[in-house]
Amino acid sequence: MNHTQCLIIGSGPAGYTAAIYAARANMQPLLIDGPQQGGQLMITTEVENFPGYPDGVEPFQMMTDLRRQAERFGTQFIEGIVTKVDFSATPKKVWVEDSDEYTADTVIVATGASARFLGIESEQTYRGRGVSACATCDGFFYRNKTVAVVGGGDTACGEAEYLAGICQKVYLIVRKPYLRATDIMQKRVLNNPKIEVLFEHNTLRLTGENKVQGADLIFRKGEADEQLHHIDIDGFFLAIGHKPNTDLFKDYLELDSEGYIRVHGETPCTNIAGVYAAGDCADPRYRQAIVAAAAGCKAAMEADKYLKTLQNK
Ligand code: NAP
Repeated sequence: MNHTQCLIIGSGPAGYTAAIYAARANMQPLLIDGPQQGGQLMITTEVENFPGYPDGVEPFQMMTDLRRQAERFGTQFIEGIVTKVDFSATPKKVWVEDSDEYTADTVIVATGASARFLGIESEQTYRGRGVSACATCDGFFYRNKTVAVVGGGDTACGEAEYLAGICQKVYLIVRKPYLRATDIMQKRVLNNPKIEVLFEHNTLRLTGENKVQGADLIFRKGEADEQLHHIDIDGFFLAIGHKPNTDLFKDYLELDSEGYIRVHGETPCTNIAGVYAAGDCADPRYRQAIVAAAAGCKAAMEADKYLKTLQNK
């Protein structure tokens, strides 16, 4: 039987920071990587907004540094995917790949969120070569270029506005004849001369040699006046929502209507004592590495406090 005082699920900035703090507090944490070691950040090109890297850093390097820092204080890592949990009693139980069972006094859930993609083949072909799901992360690489953002919600409008501050031109590809975003966000987008909103458009495919150079769109798909047309673009940003990776926990943890783990106020505490949520799995608002790292720190500190109350019982 593998038992730990603190088991961390997820290897993004939240998970690794939780591990650094938990290890330094002598909790001998066990961190289970999950499907993508390093988390969502690994799909971006370069990290330029994480404090401490004045020249920017490659995501692989940054996540390797965080991992080494966690390892230095004694974190143990398990490569694998958590497939089942049981938080009904203490110790909590976690299964990796359905077979290996781990028990833990405290669990920190740092499973992140996944950007939704359209599901077209070319989107995967150009991933990291013009396709991005984070304007804040990758927008800078499209300075004075032309990009498209897909989506009609607040995220898409926010990303379009952000990119308009950097790029020469931004297309906003919206599948409906209207935007879903709040009035203020709509106004900003519609009044921005650099943004052209393409209502009732869907993306058929991306085109280009080795990187995105264009997109084939369809206007009013299935209608009598359906039309195909092409736009030249250098970048293609998805902003059609994120899905928190929390399905595994829905029988135990309170989730909001979108699936984000509910935490108490500014803390990472969930509805179950000894179980904490940190990073994008519990953060529909900021979704930034630095915010996730801070939440990981808080989660480890809460776990330590909880363990001490258990030990004093
Ligand atoms: P959202 O409100 O769910 O909007 C998603 C958008 O993507 C919708 O316009 C949707 O189109 C479109 N979409 C979904 N699937 C698509 C597909 N397959 N092809 C083309 N378009 C597709 O998501 P969000 O914008 O990420 O916002 C999520 C929540 O966070 C919202 O409650 C939002 O208000 C909030 N938020 C707030 C702020 C802020 O306060 N500043 C910033 C960002 C987000 P349809 O409209 O046709 O469904």
